Amino acid sequence: MRATVRCPYCVSDLAFFAMVAHVDGRYICGKCGHTAYPDDAAYLCRCPKCLELAGARMAS
Ligand SMILES: [Zn+2]
Ligand SMILES: [Zn+2]
Repeated sequence: MRATVRCPYCVSDLAFFAMVAHVDGRYICGKCGHTAYPDDAAYLCRCPKCLELAGARMAS
């Protein structure tokens, strides 16, 4: 059994927001839409938060 994948953006008071396993192996945060793919280190999430971070990195 895999460890729970947690969304880095949705931190609650007690724990990170647990992400839901999807059929294709990805994990999706039901709160912000962030996705993670533990099996693929090169996977890039395209949720608004990650795009925002990528954009900020490019602008600086
Ligand atoms: Zn989230
Ligand atoms: Zn994301």
